[in-house]
Amino acid sequence: MLSIKNLHAQVEDKEILKGINLEVKAGEVHAIMGPNGAGKSTLSSVIAGKEEYEVTAGEIELEGEDISELEADERAHKGVFMSFQYPVEIPGVSVTNFIKTAINESRKAQGKEEMPAKDMLKKIREKSELLEIDRKFLSRSLNEGFSGGEKKRNEIFQMAMLEPKLAILDETDSGLDIDALRIVANGVNKLKAKDNAVVVITHYQRLLDYIVPDYVHVLHDGKIVKTGDASLALKLEEQGYDWIKQEVEG
Ligand code: ADP
Ligand code: MG
Repeated sequence: MLSIKNLHAQVEDKEILKGINLEVKAGEVHAIMGPNGAGKSTLSSVIAGKEEYEVTAGEIELEGEDISELEADERAHKGVFMSFQYPVEIPGVSVTNFIKTAINESRKAQGKEEMPAKDMLKKIREKSELLEIDRKFLSRSLNEGFSGGEKKRNEIFQMAMLEPKLAILDETDSGLDIDALRIVANGVNKLKAKDNAVVVITHYQRLLDYIVPDYVHVLHDGKIVKTGDASLALKLEEQGYDWIKQEVEG
């Protein structure tokens, strides 16, 4: 699904990613953890194609196709979904209308017709039932006055509707309460399928109490310095990152 080789990236002439290697197969959930400033958000931004980050070496392939030169929206149309740490408010545009537009834009980019209204409604009904999202929420203005949990609910709903091949969820930002953590975890667990993959970026071990990742990677100073299974996250929770830094720095 996703294959990253020797990825180096910089922002404002400062090298942040210093040779990342990462293979994510369809059906897998990967967690990326690591101390503040390690480059986790940079990695997710670089995969999604944000402009301010410059790739200076290496490859990013999605299903065997090099996407590293594509614009962010082109990557999105190819099935890369990234959560927004700071979602925009759009007064007057409902959660439902926003997602309808997003789906049809994506279909247009793929040379497809708009989704028939009947199919769209059916899909909205199915996904909102799956995620236990009520009708009232769907008609609210996008992100306007949303609580942390509601922002997450909207994000997971968008993900469910868009059915991305690769979802990257950057959960590094601020204090997510337990309700918001559960919404994210529940969504990821329900949407996990054999033909998609999820990369969860977090420094909350707590999130991984609810999402059991297939692999846990530790990012430190722009490199993945350790990979393990879910038990690695538990060890990090107990012992912090110092032992890893010592291992790396010798
Ligand atoms: P993490 O998400 O692991 O906490 P980040 O990827 O946010 O780490 O940041 C890694 C480093 O890159 C930090 O030193 C940060 O200051 C720097 N950095 C990230 N984005 C920018 C930017 N847009 N401009 C300048 N420096 C940045
Ligand atoms: Mg971050």
